[in-house]
Amino acid sequence: MTKKQKKRLIRIIIAAVLLVVMHFIPTGDMWYLKLALYMIPYLIVGYDIVLGAFKKILKGRLFDEEFLMMIATIGAFAIGEYPEATAVMLFYQVGELFQSIAVGKSRKSISDMMDIVPDTAVVIRDGAEEEVDPCEVSVGELVLVKPGEKIPIDGIVEEGNTSLNTSALTGESLPVEVGKGSQVFSGSINITSAVKVRTTADYEDSTVSKILELVENSMDKKAKSEQFITKFARVYTPCVVILAVLIILACIVFTDMGVAGSIYRGLIFLVVSCPCALVVSVPLSFFGGIGAASRKGILIKGSNFMETLSKVDTVVCDKTGTITKGNFAVDAIHPSQIDEDELIDIAALAESRSNHPVAESIVKAHGKHIKAERIGDIEEIAGKGLKAVIDGKTYYVGNDKLMRDIGSDYHDCHIPGTSVHVSLEKEYLGHIVINDELKPDSKKAVQDLKKSGVGRIVILTGDNSKVAAKVASEVGIDDVRAELMPDMKVAELEKIMAKGGTTAFVGDGINDAPVLTCADIGIAMGALGSDAAIEAADVVLMDDSLGKIPVAIRLAKKTLRIVKENIIFSLAVKILIMILGALGIVGMRAAVFGDVGVLVIAILNAARAMRIPRQS
Ligand code: ADP
Ligand code: MG
Repeated sequence: MTKKQKKRLIRIIIAAVLLVVMHFIPTGDMWYLKLALYMIPYLIVGYDIVLGAFKKILKGRLFDEEFLMMIATIGAFAIGEYPEATAVMLFYQVGELFQSIAVGKSRKSISDMMDIVPDTAVVIRDGAEEEVDPCEVSVGELVLVKPGEKIPIDGIVEEGNTSLNTSALTGESLPVEVGKGSQVFSGSINITSAVKVRTTADYEDSTVSKILELVENSMDKKAKSEQFITKFARVYTPCVVILAVLIILACIVFTDMGVAGSIYRGLIFLVVSCPCALVVSVPLSFFGGIGAASRKGILIKGSNFMETLSKVDTVVCDKTGTITKGNFAVDAIHPSQIDEDELIDIAALAESRSNHPVAESIVKAHGKHIKAERIGDIEEIAGKGLKAVIDGKTYYVGNDKLMRDIGSDYHDCHIPGTSVHVSLEKEYLGHIVINDELKPDSKKAVQDLKKSGVGRIVILTGDNSKVAAKVASEVGIDDVRAELMPDMKVAELEKIMAKGGTTAFVGDGINDAPVLTCADIGIAMGALGSDAAIEAADVVLMDDSLGKIPVAIRLAKKTLRIVKENIIFSLAVKILIMILGALGIVGMRAAVFGDVGVLVIAILNAARAMRIPRQS
């Protein structure tokens, strides 16, 4: 409990004790004495509410919870219901206390995850170790990370081998082995031995800071149900006040309850109408759901996306890097005119500046040092390959389409796979056949998706149709559209979306940005180390496991179910108490007690959203 919460609790206890004590003080007919006595616990427990309401009135902001509480309790004092007024304020404060504890707890669950934030970093400056604030470390400095400590800043391992626990970032519990040259991300925990890391980013640009920012900003993007509640509360409160006045007037005119009795009825109605259970529990549920997802390595950029995610019935995915590893192995090198080494040499030089998975695989297969001085202009041709000047000559490296475009007399290969053709101007030099592997969990992820209510799964790829069809049948997807240029992917996605429903696009963020933004919800995977993915997507998976998508959908569904339960439950109970109150069946104290009860139940229900279901 925070200091503020403790203070509130103490005020509640003192007021409750006084309320009981007042009961036994004989006041006789001296109403002013009674009023003065009850004013003490009332003000102890409620002075901040009354003051807050007055301040808001001065600012012209009428009709919120505090306002309702103030007029109801002051009204009750006016008609001589002193204990009633005090009790109402007391219950209300109990509800407020409970709510602030719940909000604090869910914030803490996120900040627990944010426990990945390192407090200090040990930099090596002039050969000496120095402990500093991570913000003070600049790019290119050497930091020492001992076992048990967190990697403070993104960087590259320069000395030592160790295993890292990246579960705070990815939700995966398996340790990751790193050694000299490995890229490491802030927020991972060093397990086995000390390593020295050369930083590649400032603290502000490091993974941890970006995740923090993303999760914090996610609270600003409100879901429709949340916006509804805010708007609802705005119209609702004045309506309730008018209704209360009407009830008072009706009681005076049509019954013999007298003025005080009639006002009391109206006040009961006012007290009950306080919409706090809704206003609090809905955002709290979303907050909890987003927190639970982030602990699984799934970052959802706002509750609006949580809402969309829960409705997803069509998943469209990219092939390379999404369903397959994006790590192509070279299966064959078929040169014509030149020899194998020369062919792969040219290809690797041409690809050395591209971050396309095809390019990275060829550079890796080549394995030799690349002489930068041999490379001239390079122009990437999206969805086809690239044009590169090497040793002053112009080469084309890419797929069939590219060869056709330039009029090279290329030929197909009998070996199945993705052919990367190489041509010197129009003169064909041969091809390299590469093949990708499925990610180990892709097949299970597709089955899980179908189980989670996703009826349609479609693959969109720029690769050739033979390879695409093979991958699709291996993972169990029957709708596959291949040989698409990047802009055709958007058109194809639009066609799919035209059939209705809610469509998610899943990609690795490399040349996927237009499709990611076009879909109802864009999901990018492999965010560790890729800024592009974090920027363009609505949902970001820290690692690149397709299996996280059904988990995300299930979490979203659960959160939305909790939100709906809370809305329906709170409204139902509230309307019931309002009717009972208006009819005089329940008194003000019972009414507010019921009200706080609803709030507590709704908050407890919302807290369920924070928990991660076991099967995921
Ligand atoms: P996808 O991400 O679905 O594989 P892309 O549009 O990125 O689709 O690429 C489509 C095809 O274009 C690849 O399968 C490959 O044949 C060719 N291609 C793209 N970039 C390159 C590159 N840098 N080098 C060689 N071929 C490439
Ligand atoms: Mg791609």
